[in-house]
Amino acid sequence: MKDEGRKISLERAKELKDSISDYLEYRDTVATGFKEWEKIKARQENIKRILGASQEDWQNWKWQLRNRIDDPDTLAKIINLSSEEKEEISLAGSKFRWAVVPYYLSLINPDDPGDPVRLQSIPTAKEYFDQCGDMDPMDEEFSSPAPAITRRYPDRLIINVTNQCSSYCRHCQRRRNIGEVDKQTPRRDIEAALHYIAQNEEIRDVLLTGGDSLMLPEGTLDWILTELDNIPHVEIKRLGSRVPVSLPYRVTDELCKMLSSHLPLYVNTHFNHPLEVTPDAREACLKLTKSGIILGNQAVLLKGINNDPLLMKKLNHELLKIMVLPYLIFHAKSVRGTSHFRTRVEDGIEIMEKLRGYTSGLAVPTYVINAPHGYGKTPMFPEYLVSMGRNKLLIRTWEKRVLEYENDEEA
Ligand SMILES: *Cc1c(COP(=O)(O)O)cnc(C)c1O
Repeated sequence: MKDEGRKISLERAKELKDSISDYLEYRDTVATGFKEWEKIKARQENIKRILGASQEDWQNWKWQLRNRIDDPDTLAKIINLSSEEKEEISLAGSKFRWAVVPYYLSLINPDDPGDPVRLQSIPTAKEYFDQCGDMDPMDEEFSSPAPAITRRYPDRLIINVTNQCSSYCRHCQRRRNIGEVDKQTPRRDIEAALHYIAQNEEIRDVLLTGGDSLMLPEGTLDWILTELDNIPHVEIKRLGSRVPVSLPYRVTDELCKMLSSHLPLYVNTHFNHPLEVTPDAREACLKLTKSGIILGNQAVLLKGINNDPLLMKKLNHELLKIMVLPYLIFHAKSVRGTSHFRTRVEDGIEIMEKLRGYTSGLAVPTYVINAPHGYGKTPMFPEYLVSMGRNKLLIRTWEKRVLEYENDEEA
């Protein structure tokens, strides 16, 4: 019955193709960093002219940091702002710090108040008037057994190495640490943190974050990574950094050379929208992967930016193309000044429902909410296990087919 088999297969193939017809229509309508690149480059020329910069300056990450935009008047030369918008920015800026590097600003459509990069980087009055949310919803103050350390899990922990970032996200969960001044964690605190790790041999995975770990000078990072390499029970290191997204020029040959001497090393970054996946971001990511580093993405589910199943799918596809594995989608925590970004948990579960099966498993991250009191990341899944009998399960497939599944008796 060869022909019959082929006929059924063809019908099934058509059914499968039809099941993503919405995405096939949608995928070419989304603004990605690659699609918008010519426009972005024209904006970069404009910003360079305003700031009196050369192309060499532009690609110099230190120039980018020195020339961060943090006042409404300069910003108004780059994106179109009404006088009310300028006032809102000043008002919000009086309460929460903001600063954006020219590169990240160049991704913004100057005429679109709802631009996803603009929403992530330019403050509005909503931040100022937000009365919900805590400053420290995860009780990080009570999870620090040694200086600079956050420990919430049995075998891994964070060292907060700096409070600095290249740009300050409007949805930042650690904004209480982002003061008016950039400060690296003092060397003696990092020494105390390293001492704690050396004394606790169950710690096999150390995350350097902050702030943005790649804001540290190479020498300091090299020192910390070398010290960790010298602790026999530390098996892997991870860096938390938004540099590939907001300041790709930080990924220099010298940085890569230094990092490649500290393998195994993982970098988790933070892309939230396909517009952030540009040719320059790609170059930074490929340089890191060629140095032997594995890249993962930790997106945050943000209302008005990426709370849409088709957009999240497109983001994850764009990430896989630049060798970044979608790792987590965080539910936005209740942090003071960020309530306008929070979605409902159902939104996140719906996104997961529409990813699993419909696209590569590699493009399916884990959706997590942070349990109160710092009790850890807690995964939220659509329900695939309908019921569990003694020797049978009732399962629900990605297409919502409910089927019986034999569960072998224990031997
Ligand atoms: C997120 C986090 C980790 C890493 O968790 P994974 O699930 O292993 O990625 C470790 N320590 C702290 C304090 C964290 O918040």
